Amino acid sequence: MRVIELLIQIRPILLKRAAHRLSRGEGLREMFLEELGRFYDLVQQSVEFGDPVWLEPQLTSWIQAATLTELEQQQEGSITPLLNDLQMITFEVVRECCCPEEALDVCSALLPVFSHAFMFSSKQETDRLVKRISEDLERANAALERLDKSKSDFISVAAHELKTPLTLIEGYAAMLRESVPLEFLEEGIELYLKGIDSGSKRLREIIDDMIDVSLIDNNLLAIRFQPIWLNRLFEVIQIETQPISQQRILDIQFYDFEGSRVMTYGDGERLLQAFRNIINNAIKFTPDGGRIEIDGRMLPGFVEVTISDTGIGINPEDQAVIFEKFGRLGNVSLHSTSKTRFKGGGPGLGLAITKGIIDAHGGTIWTESPGYDEINCPGSTFHVLLPIYQECPDVKTARLFESLRQS
Ligand code: ADP
Repeated sequence: MRVIELLIQIRPILLKRAAHRLSRGEGLREMFLEELGRFYDLVQQSVEFGDPVWLEPQLTSWIQAATLTELEQQQEGSITPLLNDLQMITFEVVRECCCPEEALDVCSALLPVFSHAFMFSSKQETDRLVKRISEDLERANAALERLDKSKSDFISVAAHELKTPLTLIEGYAAMLRESVPLEFLEEGIELYLKGIDSGSKRLREIIDDMIDVSLIDNNLLAIRFQPIWLNRLFEVIQIETQPISQQRILDIQFYDFEGSRVMTYGDGERLLQAFRNIINNAIKFTPDGGRIEIDGRMLPGFVEVTISDTGIGINPEDQAVIFEKFGRLGNVSLHSTSKTRFKGGGPGLGLAITKGIIDAHGGTIWTESPGYDEINCPGSTFHVLLPIYQECPDVKTARLFESLRQS
């Protein structure tokens, strides 16, 4: 007997058994029976025409239904277990109702149909899952972007709001100082005024950092390219760091490396700010008696500056985080704010600004450290790669230098 005739013959038994085993409740069974009828019709057509694609529309509709239920119930839905059961029940009925020879023929005809059904449904399900995960990721990304935008807006508003009262404090402190001649100022009052001065100076630095971060976030950081020599920038920092290196017994070495005397174009003020941040951090995170080295080398088209210290080091998983705004590590509640004291904390904006400045110069910054260890102090090395510009990268300024050269 032909396979198709056998399939038609066993169809009622198949439907009854599958509906009985796979659905619970009369109402459900009725509906499921219809679905099963369509499924076995398509299985039959697939065998008849030797092409299992006939089953695909039915599988697609089951996958869609499973995905909907899954979304409602928040659990993984897959039709693979259902297909597995249907295959088992089908082969079971074939074995019972056909003689061994016929059963072999029917099973051989059904096997490719079921294999195709498994492959098709698992591909469809995987595609749907990937699509859903990408959509979830996109939503999460959009939410993160919104969060970052509100953070950036908050920084910008807070910085500008703080600026006005700070200017008042600075102004009144200056007026107070000027209104009484120095020789008539009581010793205590002089100390209080110094306190106000240093407090408002630190506050202004923090506000300036907040403004810089919001400029970088909004791609508004203006870089004024001029001819620069790195050794001249380091000379300034060397003079600035002398008092603290004596106070904290730190051995700070500025090497005259190849490339430090090469002229390139850059924003001297901004680069000074960037290197100052890195070197101040090296000072802050190196215990008294430690060593800090500022060295470098020439590379084709670039100069690489390295700032290494014998400080507490940075764990590998934190080495990217520290370049994000507010990327300060450790316990914020133990925060003691200072620009130079050992482990003195800041708002965690310095390296975000530094990275923004280096990026705006077409350079790169990264750090290397074996890890964080306050006892053994493995140290950290910050690398800054800056392009050597033969010509000013800013077209307008380039024209200015060109006319100066000609005159
Ligand atoms: P902060 O205002 O806290 O100094 P930064 O952005 O300059 O912020 O630095 C972020 C964090 O990176 C610091 O809080 C510190 O945990 C870590 N860090 C930076 N430089 C070093 C260094 N040389 N050694 C160890 N940790 C460092």
